[in-house]
Amino acid sequence: MQVLENISLKPYNTFGIDVKAKYFAVLHSDNEIAAFFSALTEERMPYLVLGGGSNVLFTKDFDGSVACIRSKGIVKLMEDENYVYLKIAAGEVWDDVVNYAVGNGLGGIENLSLIPGNAGTGPVQNIGAYGVELKDVLYSVEVADVIARHYRAFRPADCEFGYRKSIFKNQGKSRFVITSLCLKLDKHPVLKLDYGDIRKELEKAGIKDPTISAVRDVIIKIRSSKIPDPSIMGNAGSFFMNPVVSADEYARLIIEFPVMPSFKIGEDVKIPGAWLIEQCGFKGKRFGNAGVHKDQPLVLVNYGSATGVEILVLAEKIIDSVQEKFGIRLEKEVNIF
Ligand SMILES: Cc1cc2nc3c(=O)[nH]c(=O)nc-3n(C[C@H](O)[C@H](O)[C@H](O)COP(=O)(O)OP(=O)(O)OC[C@H]3O[C@@H](n4cnc5c(N)ncnc54)[C@H](O)[C@@H]3O)c2cc1C
Repeated sequence: MQVLENISLKPYNTFGIDVKAKYFAVLHSDNEIAAFFSALTEERMPYLVLGGGSNVLFTKDFDGSVACIRSKGIVKLMEDENYVYLKIAAGEVWDDVVNYAVGNGLGGIENLSLIPGNAGTGPVQNIGAYGVELKDVLYSVEVADVIARHYRAFRPADCEFGYRKSIFKNQGKSRFVITSLCLKLDKHPVLKLDYGDIRKELEKAGIKDPTISAVRDVIIKIRSSKIPDPSIMGNAGSFFMNPVVSADEYARLIIEFPVMPSFKIGEDVKIPGAWLIEQCGFKGKRFGNAGVHKDQPLVLVNYGSATGVEILVLAEKIIDSVQEKFGIRLEKEVNIF
């Protein structure tokens, strides 16, 4: 393991923000992760764990150590009549894992195709797309507890999962470093096709009896046409979460805004954040080097040389504007450092 000094993090975050880390190391194995964090806790230095950098916004130089997790390995732990249990090292690229699963006929994560970042970061915000969340297929998460200095495993029930939420994103944030996860994948997959344009695209392609591989292909096609590619335009996907309001709050809103779209979530109601932002006039707007994407208002973009502060100022402007017009406070999905 090589620890480097004063390294630019620009290549390590999909927003393409140019800040520096005082110390920086790429960790390729659990041994390197253990060595790195035991040295850190002895020195009491601030640290940051980084996967693919696709859900972070850096607003200043990081005056501590940044550890970039690149441990690799996909291992079949066990198998029964219906399921295969795969152990996946945290540093595997998530979409490589989806590709592996689909290639081996294992279902459950095909709808999560093309989500950027590491597999090990998946549990942090319980990644989700097209009607599936990671928690639906997660068997366990193995972590290094850098405060208690031991390894432990979490079962999904202990992870406090919610919509883009987990213990790892909230109170366990600086404590648990995810080293691997175990997925329980289905040998007889039940396809989830009733979300977004999946069925429409399958029909267009003339596919009547879809396989998990066909679903993956269609999702890749839909996502590639809708979401800006960070290698072309810096972004971190949805910057904000879709707000969830109570039934009472919804009743108030729908009287004032009768055309407001919504989805029922149990007793509560989810409002598309993109619609709220568009109604406030931000869709496609550019402010210096920062902007709101022209098709996806939830996505903030870096036009080339934006600073993290420029992006954050725009985010706060959007939050205030939505609050003023609708009385709804948007929450940031992206992790700010
Ligand atoms: C174009 C685009 C599309 C996206 N689409 C989706 C989508 O459809 N659904 C969705 O849910 N997300 C989406 N995202 C967000 C992002 O891809 C996910 O949140 C992803 O899981 C982040 O992984 P990462 O490795 O890049 O995390 P990073 O950005 O590196 O880290 C994110 C957070 O996790 C922490 N962290 C990283 N690794 C570990 C670890 N091993 N242990 C503990 N904490 C860790 C970091 O400290 C940080 O706080 C999208 C992003 C982009 C750029």
